Amino acid sequence: MTHPIWAPWRIEYIVGPKIKDGCIFCAYANRECQGFRSDLTLVRQEHAYVALNRYPFTAGHIMVIPRRHVAGIEELSEAEYQELFALVRSACGALRAAVRPDGLNVGINLGEAAGAGIAPHLHVHVVPRWAGDTNFMPVLADVRVMPQALDDTWKHLMKSFQNIDGEHGDPNTELPSETLSIL
Ligand SMILES: [Zn+2]
Repeated sequence: MTHPIWAPWRIEYIVGPKIKDGCIFCAYANRECQGFRSDLTLVRQEHAYVALNRYPFTAGHIMVIPRRHVAGIEELSEAEYQELFALVRSACGALRAAVRPDGLNVGINLGEAAGAGIAPHLHVHVVPRWAGDTNFMPVLADVRVMPQALDDTWKHLMKSFQNIDGEHGDPNTELPSETLSIL
């Protein structure tokens, strides 16, 4: 039994500016580890990394993203392809351990016509699902409460994602207050 997920805070993303300067996924890919917390990056390997989606369909909605700016799967080198999808596998395991979903949606939208929000940079969505999750997240009148919820989610998921090989952010990193307001 499937239902569309009601995620009203996504309207801020849908109507908001997409990319101001360059590609946000490239920016995250090259950030110092100290920036992982504000970027919501969970783990970064040589060719791919995992970050929380800041406009989530459900709590714990993550993306697995190649570090190189490519739009299509066929543009990945063999090493990038192998690492990206091995990281999808590891991320599914870490996510199950962290939030114990009833199911997961794993998917890629290739091209704007297919629904990709940031079509020029390939990304794999992994969305935890719970039975009856159309009502899983309450309607939030003020979307600005979300950044704190995202930070809490990041800290919680880090406990599981620490077990995946790669670079990790430090949950004790100071998060500048202005970062929270623009997450
Ligand atoms: Zn990019």
